[in-house]
Amino acid sequence: ALRIGVLALQGDVREHAAILTSLGAEAVLVRRPEQLDGLDGLVLPGGESSVIDKLSRIFGIREPLRALIADGLPVYGTCAGLILLADELEGAIDGQLTLGGLDVTVARNAFGGQVESFETDLLIDGIEGEVAATFIRAPLITRVGAQARAIAALPDGGVVAVEQGNLLGTSFHPEMNGETRLHERLLERVRRRRGASLV
Ligand code: GLN
Repeated sequence: ALRIGVLALQGDVREHAAILTSLGAEAVLVRRPEQLDGLDGLVLPGGESSVIDKLSRIFGIREPLRALIADGLPVYGTCAGLILLADELEGAIDGQLTLGGLDVTVARNAFGGQVESFETDLLIDGIEGEVAATFIRAPLITRVGAQARAIAALPDGGVVAVEQGNLLGTSFHPEMNGETRLHERLLERVRRRRGASLV
C-alpha cells in the first residue's frame, strides 16, 4: 500500500487518516522526524496553523518537512495545512512561520462574523460534479503567483483551492463530508511520482 503520512501535531488528523485508509492507503501518523522516512505522500490537516507551526519547531520536524517539500513529495494541505504550504501569509500571529512551497499569499481567518463557518458545493478543475466543502475559520488565497494554479473559487471569485507541481491546497475541509476525490488526487500524484522513479 502507499504510505501516506498525516502530520499529527494538532488538528483533524483522524478524519484524514480515515479517508486515506478507505482509499486503500496506509495512513501513518507523523509527530517525529523519523516517522517521515519512507513516506510516499503527506497530508497537512486543518487545525490551528500557528500551533502546528510552533509544535513543528519544538519537535524538530519543520526543516525535514521543508526538505521533503523541496524534493517534490506530494503533499495535500487543508485549511491550516494550506496556510502551512503558502509562501506568504497575511495575519500571522506570534511570529508564525509557514513551510512554504506554494507560490501564493493566504489570508488567515478571511471570513469574519456570521459566515465564519459554512458549507457549500464547489466546482473544482479536474473533478467531475460538485464537491461538498466545509469552511471553518478558513483562509482565503488572495494571490496566486505564476508558479501556482487556481483550481476552485467561490461565486464571488475568492480562490479556495490551488495546485503547484505535487502540492495541493484547499481552504476547506473535504474530509468532513466524506469527500474523497481530493485525497484521490494526492494518491494519483504519488503513483505518478513512484512510476517516474522506476524508469
Ligand atoms: N483558522 C485556522 C488557522 O488560521 C485554520 C482553521 C482550520 O484549519 N479549519 O490556522
